[in-house]
Amino acid sequence: MAQSTETTDWVSRFADEVIEESERRAPGKPVVVASGLSPSGPIHLGNLREVMTPHLVADEIRRRGRQVRHLISWDDYDRYRKVPEGVAGVDKKAWEEHIGKPLTSVPAPKGSSHPNWAEHFKAAMVESLAELGVEFDGISQTAQYTSGVYREQILHAIRHRGDIDAILDQYRTKKAPGKKPSQKPLDEAELEAAEGSGAAGEDDGSSGSAGYFPYKPYCGNCEKDLTTVTAYDDDSTELTYACTACGFSETVRLNEFNRGKLVWKVDWPMRWAYEGVIFEPSGVDHSSPGSSFQVGGQIVGIFGGKQPIGPMYAFVGISGMAKMSSSKGGVPTPGDALKIMEPQLLRWLYARRRPNQSFKIAFDQEIQRLYDEWDKLDAKVADRSALPGDVAAHARAVGTAGGELPRTPRPLPYRTLASVADITAGHEDQALRILSELDPSNPLGSLDEARPRYDKAEAWINTQVPADQRTIVRDEPDAELLKSLDEQAQGSLRLLLDGLASHWSLDGLTHLVYGVPKVQAGFAADATPKELPAEIKTAQRTFFALLYHLLVGRDTGPRLPTLLLAVGQERVRVLLGE
Ligand SMILES: [Zn+2]
Repeated sequence: MAQSTETTDWVSRFADEVIEESERRAPGKPVVVASGLSPSGPIHLGNLREVMTPHLVADEIRRRGRQVRHLISWDDYDRYRKVPEGVAGVDKKAWEEHIGKPLTSVPAPKGSSHPNWAEHFKAAMVESLAELGVEFDGISQTAQYTSGVYREQILHAIRHRGDIDAILDQYRTKKAPGKKPSQKPLDEAELEAAEGSGAAGEDDGSSGSAGYFPYKPYCGNCEKDLTTVTAYDDDSTELTYACTACGFSETVRLNEFNRGKLVWKVDWPMRWAYEGVIFEPSGVDHSSPGSSFQVGGQIVGIFGGKQPIGPMYAFVGISGMAKMSSSKGGVPTPGDALKIMEPQLLRWLYARRRPNQSFKIAFDQEIQRLYDEWDKLDAKVADRSALPGDVAAHARAVGTAGGELPRTPRPLPYRTLASVADITAGHEDQALRILSELDPSNPLGSLDEARPRYDKAEAWINTQVPADQRTIVRDEPDAELLKSLDEQAQGSLRLLLDGLASHWSLDGLTHLVYGVPKVQAGFAADATPKELPAEIKTAQRTFFALLYHLLVGRDTGPRLPTLLLAVGQERVRVLLGE
């Protein structure tokens, strides 16, 4: 088992608090932490914090040798509220017919191998959680409700509907003031993410002719929840409802009826009490005054339970996906992120930020810088020079109490892999040749040694980098440009070409391309910036721009040493006019 991280980071501090609270409430019992996800459509990357926050805390508790359950409530008995945009195999008109039914009663998109809508979107999330090393107990609320697991709780809530109504009424009269938890207005992705977490926005109980009622039957004819309770008898539990969608009406006995659910604001605290949840964070949408978390804190007492420790987590944004999402109609899922980054990097993004800090997950060029930062940390941890907080975040990223996540055996720099994938465009033998030349003293035996990181970098290049930023190596030398070069420029190319063979490695070429302008100005190739006049910088920039133009026909491109290796010595010579 992995060692507990001895330092104090936010995860450790929550673990202390949660263990202490669990001992107070349920001595000797496993600690229970919870997340809730609504499979109402693709589960967005923004919702991953709902899982990662309790996961990291649960994992720390497990590292300390304690038993812990991380429940993920699949809120699949929620009503189908709208047809999400841009889902393949879904005809908007046809699926609109199902609005109002439980998510598990809506057909899966065409071509899906899953039995229904909820299962289809749940499956993708389950797969991502497995790759991320998240251990959890999944609970289908459809299974719970339709098998009568909550029968006592439902009858109890209905017996105490007056008390619940009184609590809810405090918030109905005084509307939440306009104070926003986040500084700026939510962007589209954040709103999408907010909608996905729990059944926010659902009404808090019908007030039909039977008065306030915290429970809604799904219609026995059309399966929709557009029902109104018209009569209820506390002694017999006989309930009569009418469906406003199809006109169906029936009388059932709630002590044997399993086709309905408590309204969200009652359902959530009921489950806190039922499962004994000690820790369940929630998004800002659940934490404002009058929100379900706050109201739930009062309603949970009716069920004899207590509100969990529930920090509010800030939204996680996405950078670089905006253009693509608007054309596709959706925002990325955890599966989309895992196509372009290793699970370690994604875990690290969550582990290193406190839940109340927002951050962005990069789908744009920023991912290369993030990977550089991650590799630097990895090296510091290896030589024991990292700071304790960083060591903790690193440990939480690379593994769990169950062990280390699978690693890329030779984690070559992501930006190098991306450049190589960019230039070789799917030619694996070429990619292997170039990657082997990076460090000729320790060449890569096979591309697999650089996987899965290589595959992620390749997927990033192919799916996230716009066509006009891709690198296309020239087929033919730019004869006109070559002819127009002055003596200075020609001399710089000569120096580079003469050094190519003896500098053919990533380090060697780095020295060479920076050294050429220095040598030309009469300095040593390894002269340090202090020994050089400022003009050298300008000379270097001019030289680099010339090389980019001759090799790829643009002002910029991947780092030159990588680009040179990628193009190959023979072709470099041709393109530089030798
Ligand atoms: Zn109906």
